[in-house]
Amino acid sequence: MVQRVVVLGSTGSIGVQTLKIIEQFKDKFNVCALSTANNISLLQEQARKFKPDVVVVANEKMAAELKGGLKDLPIKVLAGAKGLVEISAWPEADVVVVAVVGFSGLIPTLTAIRAGKKVALANKETLVAAGEIVMEEARHHNTVIMPIDSEHAAIFQCLHAGNNSELKHVILTASGGPFLGKNREDLAKVSSKQALKHPNWQMGPRITVDSATLMNKGFEVIEAYHLFNLKTEQIQVTIHPESIVHSMVEFVDGSIIAQLGLPDMLVPIQYALSYPERWVNPFPRFNWGQSHALHFLPPSTEEFPCLGLAYQALHKGGTLPAVLNGADEIAVRYFLEDRISFLQIPALLAEVMGRHKVKQHPSLQEIMDADGWAREEAAAIIKG
Ligand code: NDP
Ligand code: MG
Repeated sequence: MVQRVVVLGSTGSIGVQTLKIIEQFKDKFNVCALSTANNISLLQEQARKFKPDVVVVANEKMAAELKGGLKDLPIKVLAGAKGLVEISAWPEADVVVVAVVGFSGLIPTLTAIRAGKKVALANKETLVAAGEIVMEEARHHNTVIMPIDSEHAAIFQCLHAGNNSELKHVILTASGGPFLGKNREDLAKVSSKQALKHPNWQMGPRITVDSATLMNKGFEVIEAYHLFNLKTEQIQVTIHPESIVHSMVEFVDGSIIAQLGLPDMLVPIQYALSYPERWVNPFPRFNWGQSHALHFLPPSTEEFPCLGLAYQALHKGGTLPAVLNGADEIAVRYFLEDRISFLQIPALLAEVMGRHKVKQHPSLQEIMDADGWAREEAAAIIKG
């Protein structure tokens, strides 16, 4: 069967790799829609190659420019957040790949679920901010949410080895990022340029900085909680610098099932689209002809407090995870502009969380308000 695909955020790291998979399995896919925030030159190139029905540019001025660039082709050009929502429910589409970054993924994901699409979800912020609402909608519409995040793709596969009542823990692996082993004194001096050099993965700037602070792993704890309907105490994190074991599941009898492979997002993206099948591909493989050492160590909560903040947000629940994500989007932006230091990131997040009045079982509007509030509060604290 040919799957008709929408890729939200096709010009980003996950988006570009999704199109690589589509190219690799040309006879299995048809591209309906692509989108970018600002990168219209790459989007134009992708549109000429994949011939979608429609493209969306979040930046309205740039959308007008792209319209001119594509006028020889029968491709519709839409603009802004409402364009993104429109393609998320594109009538001809079967599956929506959500590869935009940040809170901007939430409404398109909900729209795709409500329109009965299969969702391949890279955008973890959606589940961090509004996991309860999103999973409830998915249950209501019988939607399959396939995780693209490598840890969750791993857990999804490991869970096939037993049933829910036999599950003891899930163990998320974290590479530890570029600053693994550094103490607070070292961390006080690290630059944004150093934070952007991830040892194992090539990713967009937000998630790369989040990996350096371990905020990304914290978000993944919250993502796992919602995706797999877990209890907070069932989710553990181990630092595994080689990023070969992508995550694990421990059952009640003490058996631990792991999913392994090279650190390459093409594999989980392919699996999210091929499930329940597996397809042959030519990508590089783990070499069992060589010696390897795999290490596992506990995360250091003193140096990397963001992981603890995520557990705290999950424990208190309600609007607090949305606040943590909103504040982190601002903190990372200011850090990348060299306006705050690395260690100011967790301090800022803790401060914003502490000032928030948590609302339990929030509506979508209350989550959007909490996100907006957190951004304003974080920016105000930075500006003093
Ligand atoms: P990138 O920054 O590389 O790409 C993000 C994409 O979203 C780009 O196409 C970007 O356009 C677009 N975009 C950015 N902001 C907006 C907005 N406000 N409205 C609409 N579109 C927007 O991010 P990644 O690909 O690294 O990450 C995407 C998501 O996947 C994130 O949620 C991340 O946490 C998750 N993820 C990523 C992994 C990775 O390996 N990269 C691994 C696991 C999860 P433009 O090109 O113009 O900036
Ligand atoms: Mg991950």
